[in-house]
Amino acid sequence: MDTDLNSCMIQRHVDLTEANSLRLSSSAAAKITIKSIDDLHTAFQFHRREKLPLRPLGDGSNVILSSFINACILDIAIKGIEVVHEDDDNVWVKVGAGENWHEWVSYTLSNNWFGLENLALIPGRVGASPIQNIGAYGVEVASYIDSVQFIDLHPSINHLDTVKNYNNEQCQFSYRNSIFKEKNNHRLIVAVTFRLAKSFKAQLNYPALSHALDKLQLSSLKADDIFSSVVNLRNSKLPDPYKIPNAGSFFKNIEVGSSTLNRLLTKYSSMPYFSLPSADDKPLFKIPSAWLIEYCGYKGRREGCLAMHAKQALVLINLAKVKNGESVSEADVLKFSTGIVHSVYQEFGLSLEIEPQKINE
Ligand SMILES: Cc1cc2nc3c(=O)[nH]c(=O)nc-3n(C[C@H](O)[C@H](O)[C@H](O)COP(=O)(O)OP(=O)(O)OC[C@H]3O[C@@H](n4cnc5c(N)ncnc54)[C@H](O)[C@@H]3O)c2cc1C
Repeated sequence: MDTDLNSCMIQRHVDLTEANSLRLSSSAAAKITIKSIDDLHTAFQFHRREKLPLRPLGDGSNVILSSFINACILDIAIKGIEVVHEDDDNVWVKVGAGENWHEWVSYTLSNNWFGLENLALIPGRVGASPIQNIGAYGVEVASYIDSVQFIDLHPSINHLDTVKNYNNEQCQFSYRNSIFKEKNNHRLIVAVTFRLAKSFKAQLNYPALSHALDKLQLSSLKADDIFSSVVNLRNSKLPDPYKIPNAGSFFKNIEVGSSTLNRLLTKYSSMPYFSLPSADDKPLFKIPSAWLIEYCGYKGRREGCLAMHAKQALVLINLAKVKNGESVSEADVLKFSTGIVHSVYQEFGLSLEIEPQKINE
């Protein structure tokens, strides 16, 4: 059974501190780099032999890793970009889960395929993009995903099945969510098929982006202009995780109905909110969690080696000086963030939800 197992691929007792953008001190029982479906078969045999769960990881830019993960980390490095279909208006492109997200967005523009330009510079790999339906500057990736290809790693499975396919509807996309983000997700994404437009239509419903473009006074707007403006805006607003470790937005924004919104506006008349499209005709509104956190006094506040960023209250940053022997663990992060969740709940009666995914076994 295990004769095919290529033990060279398997790393034991792996330090993951550099493998997560929050630089949490973490290690795992084992790690295997997955470059192909064949590698997955090896990993599956290893999992069966050692009774270790398999946990996929991309660039680690949206995770909270526990100090010790008693699992085999699958470093998803499956590459490849292939046009699978096209018609007069659209092109369908299948992209390996291990491709870098930002490089893929750049590649789409160099081929005159449009739609993803507002999502430039989001850290991570293509395979993670459907998990929380990544979004920025008024666009969610769900609008451009045709289907997701995955392998089922459910604990009850005795042998690896063939690659399965979910169409867009089956992925159950919603705000920072999908079927792949559910607790104990067992679907390992191997590729994502995008449906992109052959003609460019600017998506400018996000005020900060449209203001930035207005200032440029361009005679005609190209997708490259949006791409560059998004890159500039992100660089000016978000801390670079290589310099100041962070996981992007640490909390999701809050969605409320009209009665909750009206209750809050009676007391907090300056509270910002945005109208959201809703499936069942009931009005739905988004309240920026950054505003709630700032109101509770956490913007720029530091506790130990952790702080909420002084310019962007939604971003939790790790200020540990590794040279001085300082480090931050999952427990430190959860203690600090729980304080914020309690404060916001006490003040507003709203429950903040942590956006990054916890990996703890
Ligand atoms: C500075 C910064 C800015 C950010 N800005 C944004 C933003 O604007 N919008 C946004 O939506 N997000 C943002 N993020 C979050 C993050 O970039 C995205 O969620 C990204 O898609 C995560 O990719 P990753 O490869 O790092 O995934 P990881 O962090 O490695 O993994 C995230 C989760 O997905 C699972 N996973 C990863 N790959 C696979 C796979 N192939 N199959 C199954 N499960 C898998 C992991 O187990 C984990 O649970 C930001 C993060 C940072 C640090």
